[in-house]
Amino acid sequence: MQTKLFIDGQFVVGAGAEEEILNPATGALIAKIPSASKEQIDQAVAAATRAFKTWGRTTPAERSGMLLKLADRIEAEAEAFAKLESLNCGKPYPRALEDEIPAIADCFRFFAGAARCMSGSAAGEYLAGYTSMIRRDPVGVVASIAPWNYPLMMVAWKIAPALAAGNVVVLKPSEQTPLTALKLAEIMADIFPAGVWNLVLGRGENVGAPLVSHPGVHMTSLTGDIATGRKVLEAATGTLKRTHLELGGKAPVIVFDDADIASVVEGVRTFGYYNAGQDCTAACRIYAAPKVYEKLAADLASAVSTIKLGTPEVDGVELGPLISERQRARVSSFVERARAQKHVEILTGGNPGAGNGFFYEPTVVAGALQEDEIVQREVFGPVVSITRFTDVEQAIDWANDSQYGLASSVWTQNISKAMQAAARLQYGCTWINTHFMLASEMPHGGMKSSGYGKDLSAYALEDYSVARHVMVKL
Ligand code: NAD
Repeated sequence: MQTKLFIDGQFVVGAGAEEEILNPATGALIAKIPSASKEQIDQAVAAATRAFKTWGRTTPAERSGMLLKLADRIEAEAEAFAKLESLNCGKPYPRALEDEIPAIADCFRFFAGAARCMSGSAAGEYLAGYTSMIRRDPVGVVASIAPWNYPLMMVAWKIAPALAAGNVVVLKPSEQTPLTALKLAEIMADIFPAGVWNLVLGRGENVGAPLVSHPGVHMTSLTGDIATGRKVLEAATGTLKRTHLELGGKAPVIVFDDADIASVVEGVRTFGYYNAGQDCTAACRIYAAPKVYEKLAADLASAVSTIKLGTPEVDGVELGPLISERQRARVSSFVERARAQKHVEILTGGNPGAGNGFFYEPTVVAGALQEDEIVQREVFGPVVSITRFTDVEQAIDWANDSQYGLASSVWTQNISKAMQAAARLQYGCTWINTHFMLASEMPHGGMKSSGYGKDLSAYALEDYSVARHVMVKL
C-alpha cells in the first residue's frame, strides 16, 4: 500500500505527524501514515502554481482525454478501489463496488464531456464600434478538502470539475480515510502532468487549515461539517478566496396520507441507513400524516429490524460499522438523550452492536417532537425519527424549520400536491416518491447552513470557473 504524499509529480514521505488508520469493522490498525509538514504544503501550492501556467492553457479536449483515461483506469481497478474503501470505511463491499465505483467513473466521464461544452454566454456588439465576448476561465489553484463518509466519491466530485475547468488542485482527503486517494495518486501520476494534481495528508487543524489560508490558493472547496465550513470561510477572508461549501444535512421525508406506505418503508429502509446513515442526504427525519403515522411507524420498525448488521465482507450484510468509536459514541449519545424524553419511543435498535468494530444497530425513534434535538440536529448515523404532523401547512413549515437545506423528499400519489410541496421546500434537492438518487448531470448542493455551490452537473463547472469579459474596439 502506498502511503506517500504526491507533490509536483513525485511521491514523497510526509514530514509531519503520523496518523493511525483503523479498520472500523474490527478496530484494528491498518496503517500509520505520515502527514504533510507546513513546508510540504507550501511545496504543493508552489508546484500547482507552476503547473497552472501550462495546464490553464490546455484545450478542453486535452483535459477531457486525461479525465477519460482516469475513468477507465478506475473502472479497470474497481475491485481494488472497492476493497480499500470497504476496509477503511466499513462499507459493505458490494455497495462500494456496485454503487460507488461506477458513479465515480461516471463523474469523471461526465466532466470530461462537459469540459468541451463550456462556453461563455454572450458575444456581440453591445456598444457601437466595439465587440464583446465572454470567456470562462479557470480560477487557479484549488484546495479540495474531502470528508470520510464517501472518501473517493467526494474526491471525484471535487477534482473532476476543477480539473475539467482548467484549474490545478491540492487535495486533502480526511485524515481518517486516505487510502483510496493514495491509490488514486498512483494512477493520476501516470496520466496528469506534474503539479496539476497534488495530494497532502493530515488533520484539519494541522494540514487543512494552513492549506485553506494559504495566500497562493485561489479557491477552497470543502465537503464537511458546518463548523468546518465556518472555519474555511474565516480562513478565506485573508485573500478573499472563492469558497464552495457542501456541509451537513437533515433531510425531511414528508409522507402524505395518500402515499404508498410500502414504497416509503422500502425507501427509508434503504436510504435512511445507507452507508450506516453517514450521509448528508440520509432519509432521517420523517413527517407522517395522522392517517398513516401508526402503520408507517410499525411497518418501518419491522422492516428496519431485518437490516443485517455486520462486517463489510460478509455476504448479505447491509449495514457496516460507523467510521470511529468517537462517531459511535456521538450517535449513541443522541439516542440516549432522545430515549430519556417521555414522549419518545425507540421502536427498534438503540444499542451498540456486538464485536470490536464500531457498530450501531439500525434505529427508529418514534414520537419525536419538532423541537427535539433528534429532529433538529444531524446525527450522521443509522437513526431515523418519525413525527406526526397535522396538516400540509404544518408538514412544510416543520420540514423548513431547520438550519439545514440540502435534500428532502415528498411521498404522495397526488402529483399536484407533490409539486406544490417541492416548490415550497427550502432544499437544494427535493425527490418525489424516492430519495437519495443522484445523476452526474444534475446539481447537488445546499441552501442555508448546508452551504452553497454545486457538485456534479454543468453548474459545478461554473463554480470552478470565472466569467470574463474581453472587448475589442473595431
Ligand atoms: P469534517 O468537517 O470534520 O472534516 C471534513 C474535512 O475537513 C476533513 O478532511 C478535515 O480534515 C478537514 N478539516 C477539518 N478542519 C479543518 C480546517 N480548520 N481547515 C481545513 N480543513 C479542515 O467533516 P467529516 O466529519 O469528515 O464529514 C462529515 C460531515 O460532512 C457531515 O457534517 C456531513 O453532513 C458532511 N457531508 C456533506 C456532504 C454534502 O454534499 N453536503 C457530503 C458528505 C458529507
